[in-house]
Amino acid sequence: MVPIEKDQQKKCSTSLRLIPHLEDLYRKDYQKFQRKGLRMSDVNSVCERRIWFEFHNPEKSQEIEPRKVIRFSHGNQIHDLDRQKLQIAGLVMNVEKELYDSRLKLSGHCDGRIPIWKFETVEDGREKTPILEIKTANLYKFQEMERSGLDQGYYDQVQLYMDTAKCGEALVLVHNMDTGHLLEFTVLVDSVRIKQIKKWFRAFGKTLKNSEPSARPHPRDSWQCGYCDYKKHCWIGVPEEPTSPEFKADGSAVPDTEMLESAAKTFLSLKRAEKASKKELEVCRAVIEQYFAASGEKEIAIGDDKIIRATKKSTVYDLDILNLDLEMLRAVSKAQSALIQKAVKDGLIDATKFELSKKIEFGEEIKAEFGKEKTNGNVTD
Ligand code: SF4
Repeated sequence: MVPIEKDQQKKCSTSLRLIPHLEDLYRKDYQKFQRKGLRMSDVNSVCERRIWFEFHNPEKSQEIEPRKVIRFSHGNQIHDLDRQKLQIAGLVMNVEKELYDSRLKLSGHCDGRIPIWKFETVEDGREKTPILEIKTANLYKFQEMERSGLDQGYYDQVQLYMDTAKCGEALVLVHNMDTGHLLEFTVLVDSVRIKQIKKWFRAFGKTLKNSEPSARPHPRDSWQCGYCDYKKHCWIGVPEEPTSPEFKADGSAVPDTEMLESAAKTFLSLKRAEKASKKELEVCRAVIEQYFAASGEKEIAIGDDKIIRATKKSTVYDLDILNLDLEMLRAVSKAQSALIQKAVKDGLIDATKFELSKKIEFGEEIKAEFGKEKTNGNVTD
């Protein structure tokens, strides 16, 4: 079929635009989630100062970005859909049960209870009903949990649920919003951790009553502040550092908070793993080189693989002369070419040695000039 002309599409358009309406509808949904008191999920919060603002100056919140509201709403819909399906199949009951810790004045609600006794025989005959908690996550956060286990904040949140609901076990389902993959974690009640969490809430409850918020825990240019609805209000009166031109925003799409936090954590953990594996590699290399040197052997066979002793030639130099000249050669090779030309012209640098210094490995000419060769045992992998 022949596609219609683009001009014809333009003629069909009306002045009505749906995006502002849709954004408004999402924004209204989001407002239903506005804070009424301390929540068990606050144990996940990235900034206590921000919670203080939510209690004391909610009107100072900047207008929330539509894309954040839309993303938030999609997460809720996926969450509700998963729960509904489990509920219809009889795998979850007591859905959206309100939980309240009257001593700490903390509210929360778990997604439901799982009637395990309906599906399998329980050893001690008790009607076990673990708590169900469903979370949605982006790809990065999901992958991080696949690698390192349940997110600490989620773990703490379900600990509070279990404590309030007097339950010893919880199942946490995590739904990857980007790929549809699912993860499932079993969490057992952890009384030591519950004590720590409650202690934190007691201290935090006191600071919430202060007439001033706590100090800013994050720098203005941190991602936490970047995504905070109170950023403008929080930093009033603090002069901005002049920004260097190369760090100006380029106008491209900013990744959402969850994605950024997760990518930053993954990056750090991979960097740490990289450092640890480099160290380990060096230790192994030293042991293997010691074996070659001590045994005079040429190779080590590991299954179908081999580690072969290299017979690369290296040079023993007259160190005094070499150090002096290496220093000079390194210096000139890094310098600006115009300066080098001038130094050569002024007779400060020997033009021949300068040419040799451009080689990454010192060539035969330098070896001939400064040293004699020997054969070393190295490891090749
Ligand atoms: S702007 Fe930063 S320091 Fe201030 S409340 Fe928000 S996250 Fe906390």
